[in-house]
Amino acid sequence: MKVLVVGANGKVGKRLVQLLKESDKHTVRAMIRIEEQAEFFQNLGVETVVASLEDSVEKFAEAAKGCDAIVFTAGSGGQTGYDKTLLIDLDGAVKTIEAAEKVGIKRFVMVSSFQAHNRENWQESIKPYYVAKHYADRILEQSELTYTIIRPGWLKDDPGTGKVIAAENLKDGSIPRDDVARTIFTVLDEENTYYRSFDLMSGDIPISDALKNL
Ligand code: NAP
Repeated sequence: MKVLVVGANGKVGKRLVQLLKESDKHTVRAMIRIEEQAEFFQNLGVETVVASLEDSVEKFAEAAKGCDAIVFTAGSGGQTGYDKTLLIDLDGAVKTIEAAEKVGIKRFVMVSSFQAHNRENWQESIKPYYVAKHYADRILEQSELTYTIIRPGWLKDDPGTGKVIAAENLKDGSIPRDDVARTIFTVLDEENTYYRSFDLMSGDIPISDALKNL
């Protein structure tokens, strides 16, 4: 599969691009925001395309042409205002879904956030972020795309363990970004995750088994 990674220059994105590059079964195109970010990917031998999530659907569609799958792992981050939460985490995600539909890319993996599907569990201090994630996920679930929505807990930079727990509803927890990237990589062609949405945390089950047993 040729995979477009949206948010490729992010912490999860970079890890995922490296996994895809090293794999025999996939190839990768990294979507970056500015040309200066290209060097990291060029050194890896990875193709890049420059586009911002504030650009038009037509621009993303052009960026995605020729790919078989899209992974959305972008985010406005905690340092910007809620205007960017709307523009990136909600509208940017929805425009990416629309671009996939426009160019006929069926496979779509969304990195959402823990319990985004349950309003009663949204943390008060970041409720607008949860609103953005919730509605982007709902639009994806209602689309014709072959989606998988991964809702990880708090992301950490600790080394990955390769072991997780994945389920419809989990208690609050955390997970290394390495393991989120490995999970995204594994769901791409794991049919048991097609049309599924799940919480993801560190656990004691090897990633591929956790996804097969969802
Ligand atoms: P990150 O390092 O902040 O990466 C986010 C990426 O999104 C960056 O590469 C950033 O680009 C890109 N981005 C922001 N605005 C953009 C725009 N206008 N156009 C194109 N790209 C844009 O995030 P992460 O830690 O890898 O997280 C990955 C995902 O997990 C995100 O969707 C996040 O919401 C979600 N998540 C996070 C947590 C947590 O605890 N932090 C928990 C659950 C889920 P630049 O590199 O140019 O800035």
